[in-house]
Amino acid sequence: MNDFLKKTHCDRCKNEFGAGDPRIMSFMNTDTLCIPCADKEKLHPYYPIAKIEERKAVLKGNYNYPGLFAGQQYPNFDILKTGEALSTEKDHQS
Ligand SMILES: [Zn+2]
Repeated sequence: MNDFLKKTHCDRCKNEFGAGDPRIMSFMNTDTLCIPCADKEKLHPYYPIAKIEERKAVLKGNYNYPGLFAGQQYPNFDILKTGEALSTEKDHQS
């Protein structure tokens, strides 16, 4: 399922990864990104939301969180189609 390390090309610009080239997992979906694409992603209007949701998931111990927009195609993300409703702090835990 997680072929992050096996990818030979950036999922967005399709540039080939050379040996030892840095790669980054998208914060928004499961795309494997080169550095320029990771930087570009940060400019996406939904990036801050995706980042917050990713952080919340990790804090809950979900280290395999696929991203708020998992299954969707960058950059045409639809906030209404995200798997989880945005957690509006409805969980009354602790
Ligand atoms: Zn790229």
